Amino acid sequence: MKRAVIIGGGISGLSAAYYLTREVARSEVDIEVTLIEKGKRFGGCIVTEKVDGFIIEGGPDCFLSEKPWAIQLCEDLGLGDRLLCTNEENRKVFILSRGRLHELPEGFMLMIPTSFTSFLKSSLISLPGKLRMAMDLFLPRKRSGEEESLAQFVRRRLGNEALEKIAEPLVAGIHAGTPETMSISSTFPRFIQLEEEYRSLILGMLARKRMAREFAQRRSGTKRTMFMTLLDGMMELTDALEARLDKRSLLSNKRVTRINRLRDTDFPHNLTYEIHMESGEALMADCVIMATPVYVSAELLQDMDGTLSEVLLSIPSVSTATVSLAYRGAEIHHPLDGFGFVVPRAEKRKIMASTWTSVKFSHRSPPDSILLRGFVGGAQNEDLLEMDDEVIIDMVRKELIDIMGITADPILTRIYRWDKSMPQYRLGHAERLSNLEERLLRYPGIYLTGCAYRGIGISDCIHDGKLTAESALKFLRSLEKEYKKGEGTSSPIKAKPYGKLR
Ligand SMILES: Cc1cc2nc3c(=O)[nH]c(=O)nc-3n(C[C@H](O)[C@H](O)[C@H](O)COP(=O)(O)OP(=O)(O)OC[C@H]3O[C@@H](n4cnc5c(N)ncnc54)[C@H](O)[C@@H]3O)c2cc1C
Repeated sequence: MKRAVIIGGGISGLSAAYYLTREVARSEVDIEVTLIEKGKRFGGCIVTEKVDGFIIEGGPDCFLSEKPWAIQLCEDLGLGDRLLCTNEENRKVFILSRGRLHELPEGFMLMIPTSFTSFLKSSLISLPGKLRMAMDLFLPRKRSGEEESLAQFVRRRLGNEALEKIAEPLVAGIHAGTPETMSISSTFPRFIQLEEEYRSLILGMLARKRMAREFAQRRSGTKRTMFMTLLDGMMELTDALEARLDKRSLLSNKRVTRINRLRDTDFPHNLTYEIHMESGEALMADCVIMATPVYVSAELLQDMDGTLSEVLLSIPSVSTATVSLAYRGAEIHHPLDGFGFVVPRAEKRKIMASTWTSVKFSHRSPPDSILLRGFVGGAQNEDLLEMDDEVIIDMVRKELIDIMGITADPILTRIYRWDKSMPQYRLGHAERLSNLEERLLRYPGIYLTGCAYRGIGISDCIHDGKLTAESALKFLRSLEKEYKKGEGTSSPIKAKPYGKLR
């Protein structure tokens, strides 16, 4: 029998465990899968709290439907009829500019305008700014293959105003990052593909929009919106994953402290890695999938390979917090006619964004109440998180008074802190990943998955967890095959160097 151990029970680790277990069961190979989580519960950043009729998300509140893996997983888990669309009648998004909320013109796909009438009418961008954005229609493709930051890319294609007012709060905001240091090819490869394929981002996005419309017309089945969640919140997904896994394979409340590699001669059956836990216990494994935050993976691998650990540490992460505030509906005089707003850094405010949760999704609050959420911290304002919870909650309230005129007292408040939970794909990220891959070749059976490598969104994490599980299974099978070949001898079997990021 072979053993795979997955460390870290967030969505990445849970997905890897689910797909690995599923494939093991299908192929009837003799592999034991164990998932180790430091906390009391599984789910990592995904946490939903139900209180007094409110459904409060501490971390992510939705996933992108355009990337199919989250929806696919929900359907596989029998949650297809629990999927919840956004309330499309309120689809507007606002951007704070010169102290006032301006609607992001209809038809904007992230930072790219696709509806000219609403773009021209918009109060958000000045006339010179609009003309500069429209130049994207005529500008040639970039010739050199040199990596660009998000800021360089947007300035080149759409101009500075588009960067400051739209791309920085809306696009860099997804990573809570700084556009000047974020690698465009690692964070938003689809923009690069659009330029390569269509030359103009606007023409490319129009073509993609047409294709998506045609696809939606052909596709029968349930309705989808750009952002989706589950009726009882995001934790329905992680709870369902946990429920699918054999209880005996789940170890919670066990913090892994270190991983060792045993010398081949120490153990004749190929269990090459030893996983130490704070409790003093240790587990042997042939294959280890590390789904821990990147800085934790660096710590766990430090003894085994200091250089590998250093490369991992060169992927930085920033901290954020979410503050949810519930109000009596009758006391709110703002029209709340959208999903919320984002704040460009030039506005010098203390919040990055606010989601009008009970407007964006149904079933988030009792009918006579309103639920809003503010985001604090990120690369630009991490120091604000040094303050106490009460001070941060008060600060978010003051921001909502200034920006939205909400002076009522909240009937409920919640703060969730996310320490170093937003990995930053800075310039050079792709090179860092290839350095990691190269270094991992020395450690067959060790895999790295999670939000720090190839995509930060939930759907990306699920996809990466699935691909990692597939690679791990391939590796374990090859070990088993070789073991069978050498059966009867006590000599250890040398594993092929499959060790990869996944
Ligand atoms: C505030 C916030 C809002 C977000 N909003 C969205 C959104 O709306 N949509 C979207 O698609 N994405 C969103 N994201 C991004 C997305 O939620 C994350 O990228 C994703 O959940 C990360 O999952 P993960 O499993 O890779 O990491 P994590 O969720 O961080 O899981 C890692 C796990 O490892 C465990 N662990 C750590 N150390 C050890 C140890 N030593 N031993 C054992 N276990 C350990 C942790 O306890 C944790 O459970 C958001 C992120 C944050 C923080």
